[in-house]
Amino acid sequence: MTDSATHRDSAITELYQDQSAHVVASCGIAYYLTSCCDASGKGSMGSIVCRSCYEEVDSLFALGWSVADDSDWARFRSHMLANYPVSAETVDAMHAAAR
Ligand SMILES: [Zn+2]
Repeated sequence: MTDSATHRDSAITELYQDQSAHVVASCGIAYYLTSCCDASGKGSMGSIVCRSCYEEVDSLFALGWSVADDSDWARFRSHMLANYPVSAETVDAMHAAAR
């Protein structure tokens, strides 16, 4: 038996993924992963870069939404509904999974 599965930190919850976006939750924060490296973004000298390869990425990757904060989650919910083909039920299921 070979185990070729990529090891994933069990603390990371998959929330949403399509061709252009990958959103996860970890440590109570929902955030985007970069398309180049599946890494989070971080601020660097006034711009946002991929934490893994340091390529400049959209400011979207510096955002994070608190899963436990109802008003923050409401902002995330609106963001997802406005930008992705998801239903309110799907986002509510993400909330349950991310808690
Ligand atoms: Zn990268």
